[in-house]
Amino acid sequence: MTDQRIDQEAETLVQAIANDLLEPGPRECLLCYVAAQLDEFGCDGAHRFSQWYQERTAPRATALLERLDRLGAYCDCEIFLNAYDAFGGEPETLPQCLGVRRGSTQPCRLWWRDRRSAY
Ligand SMILES: [Zn+2]
Ligand SMILES: [Zn+2]
Repeated sequence: MTDQRIDQEAETLVQAIANDLLEPGPRECLLCYVAAQLDEFGCDGAHRFSQWYQERTAPRATALLERLDRLGAYCDCEIFLNAYDAFGGEPETLPQCLGVRRGSTQPCRLWWRDRRSAY
């Protein structure tokens, strides 16, 4: 398999996702968005939803995925395992997002940095 074929497959995958995934809400934060998508579609072992969110809402925040890596979140579900905890533990249903400034990739106040994880 050549690199080019992999690129094309990635491109096709992006297209498929583009048709299926919901747009982030107007003020919905990264973490609420990703949490809701993971609930629906599951993790594919990459930053699929984080990247989608970043491209849609904060195209200039290109360091986002690097930042997540540094927090120990090497894929979407690891954001919640290693980097952030929901306020008040793990709720059965996701609370309504408290909202962030448009173009921000910070989580809303529902989420806390997981202090247990190594920095
Ligand atoms: Zn994952
Ligand atoms: Zn939120």
